[in-house]
Amino acid sequence: MGTIMIAIGGNAILNPEKGNPQEQQRLIDNTAGEIVEIIRKGYDVVLTHGNGPQIGNILAMQEECGLVHPQPLDVCGAQTQGLIGYLLQQSIGNRLKEKRINKQVVTLLTQVLVDDSCVSFENPTKPIGLYYPEFKARKMIENGIRMIMDKKGYRRVVASPMPKKIVEEEAIKDLVHSGIIVIAAGGGGIPVVRRNDILAGVEAVVDKDLTGSLLANAVGAETFLILTDVEKAALFYGKKNQVDIDEMTVSEAERYIKEGHFGKGSMEPKILAAVQFVRSGGKHAIISSLDKALQAIEGRAGTKITA
Ligand code: ADP
Ligand code: MG
Repeated sequence: MGTIMIAIGGNAILNPEKGNPQEQQRLIDNTAGEIVEIIRKGYDVVLTHGNGPQIGNILAMQEECGLVHPQPLDVCGAQTQGLIGYLLQQSIGNRLKEKRINKQVVTLLTQVLVDDSCVSFENPTKPIGLYYPEFKARKMIENGIRMIMDKKGYRRVVASPMPKKIVEEEAIKDLVHSGIIVIAAGGGGIPVVRRNDILAGVEAVVDKDLTGSLLANAVGAETFLILTDVEKAALFYGKKNQVDIDEMTVSEAERYIKEGHFGKGSMEPKILAAVQFVRSGGKHAIISSLDKALQAIEGRAGTKITA
C-alpha cells in the first residue's frame, strides 16, 4: 500500500479551553483510533503533530512560576515532542494490540535544520502562548520579550524560520522501512542550525506542516495527509460565497495563495506544504479533518492537491 505521511493539528491532542488530562486522553484515544484504521488498511504510517497549545502551556508555567529559569524555545519544543509522542505512542500501541496488529510504535526526538538567514529572526511574527493583559505585557516587554497586540490581548511573538532538512531523516527512513510506525518531527521539529559542523538549538518554532512535507519526501511517501479541524480548504473562506475545494493542481493552489484565499499561519502553510511535497515528487497531498481521514485517502473527502 505504500507509505503515508500524516500531520495532525495540535488541537487534535488538546483543547486549550478544556485541557484537563482526561479530556486530553479522550482526544488522543480518538486520534489514535483513526490512525490505527489507516494502519489496518495496510499503509506504513509516519506521523507528525502540532504543539501550539502544549508549548503555550509550558511557556505559561514558566512565566507564572517565577522560581525556575525559563528554558529556551528549542528546549520547550523538545519537551512537547516527548509529551505528545508518549501519549500517541502508548495509545496507538494499545489500539494495535487490541486489533491484534503486530506492529511497534516509536517516537523519535527530531531536530530540523532551519534557514539561519531567515528574516523572521530579525522580525518575529509568529504568535504563541497565552494572551496577557496590558500591565503584564509591559513587564514582559521590559524583560526583552517581543509581544504584539491583537483583539484578545497581548501575545508573545517568535521567529518561525523555514525548515531545510531533517537531521534524523535516515534513521526515520530505516525505521519506517522495517515496518515500524514512527512519530517524528513533532511541533515542526526542534529548530537547530549548524555552524562549523556543530548543531545548536535556536530560539524559534517551526511550522509543522512545512516540516511534515520535508519528512514526507524524505521517507518516500506517496500521500501526505494533513488532518485539521476543517474538512476542506475553501475559496472565499468564511464569506457568503465560500466554495470548498475538492481538488486542485499545484499551479492552481499557487494562484489561490497569491489571491489571498488561505489564512496566514493556518491554512496557507498547509497549502504551501502540500505544493512543496508534490513539486518534490510526491503523488498527492490531501487536507481533511481527522474524522474523515479514511474517506480522504479513498478520495471521498478532503481537498486533494495534485501535480
Ligand atoms: P492545525 O492545528 O490543524 O494546524 P490551524 O488552525 O493552523 O490548524 O489551521 C486550520 C484552520 O485554518 C481552520 O480551522 C480554518 O479556520 C482556517 N482557515 C483559514 N483559511 C482557510 C480556508 N481558505 N479554507 C479552510 N480553512 C481555512
Ligand atoms: Mg496550524
